[in-house]
Amino acid sequence: MSHGGGGEEMNALIGGVIFKAFENEILDKSNDSAILANLGGEIAFTTDSFVVTPLFFNGGDIGKIAVCGTINDLCMVGAKPLYMSCSFIIEEGLLMSEFRQILDSMAKTAKEAGVKIVCGDTKVVPKGKCDKIFINTAGIGRIITKNIEVKNIKKGAKILLSGDIGRHGAVILAARDEINLESELSSDCKPLNSVVENLLKSGVKPQCMRDATRGGLSAVLNEFAINAEREIIVYEEKICVCDEVSGLCELLGFEPYELANEGTFVLVVEENEADLALEILKKFDKNAAIIGEVSNGEKPRVILENLYGSQRFLEKPKGELLPRIC
Ligand code: MG
Repeated sequence: MSHGGGGEEMNALIGGVIFKAFENEILDKSNDSAILANLGGEIAFTTDSFVVTPLFFNGGDIGKIAVCGTINDLCMVGAKPLYMSCSFIIEEGLLMSEFRQILDSMAKTAKEAGVKIVCGDTKVVPKGKCDKIFINTAGIGRIITKNIEVKNIKKGAKILLSGDIGRHGAVILAARDEINLESELSSDCKPLNSVVENLLKSGVKPQCMRDATRGGLSAVLNEFAINAEREIIVYEEKICVCDEVSGLCELLGFEPYELANEGTFVLVVEENEADLALEILKKFDKNAAIIGEVSNGEKPRVILENLYGSQRFLEKPKGELLPRIC
């Protein structure tokens, strides 16, 4: 508790552990606010809180997710992520070794993405008042390509998926149920700034992008259909689901389309840009694919067509599928 008390122990924690992990010239100034240079353009700004359990899982941890989640939301509106804040709510008794591991993971992920963590806060609450650690991050980025929004989705546009789906949800599910997965299934958790920057610099002009986090592919496609008032058709055989994920879904009665992802996104582009966009996506993930299109239909809904041509509605996920997935 003394680590959150504002005294000597807290200074040691912040100065000796947190500043060391996130080291950069803006943070090191230790002012009440980070002062950022002229950012030169329109700025995207987002925030998210992270409460995932377990804290550590195959392919990531709460720290990596907390950085990727915010970076990816900035990327999805066509921004280059630049700076982040980070706030910790720590339960009394969290192991210092675990905290350091989380910090290292955040620092490594931010560095990889070229993002600086420039301000933050640390609170410690008594045992039982939170679960080990909760993290909030906020981030800002400079817009590279303007006007990437749901309302731009037009008839005839192609829908692309940047990789296979469901791995993050499946990993958390397996870790929770103590299912002994013999496979090396790991979360797709990763920053999307490189792939998105490549895409935008190639001249592709996305109508819309969204990372398929909670609610998975199904939630994103339904949000697109409803908010853009369009009908969307996707083809089951084009959507890549790895064997481990489809096996787990069969076993537990889940739909892979509804499982969360933390580094996979849906991209909508004009038909004549689809091949170029796919070529770029494939440089980053061989499972990227064109999975469907915006049809001429008038009803805002998502239709899933299987290999034999039979169709069903892909419904919006209902209820809380799996709490504390991110
Ligand atoms: Mg998002």
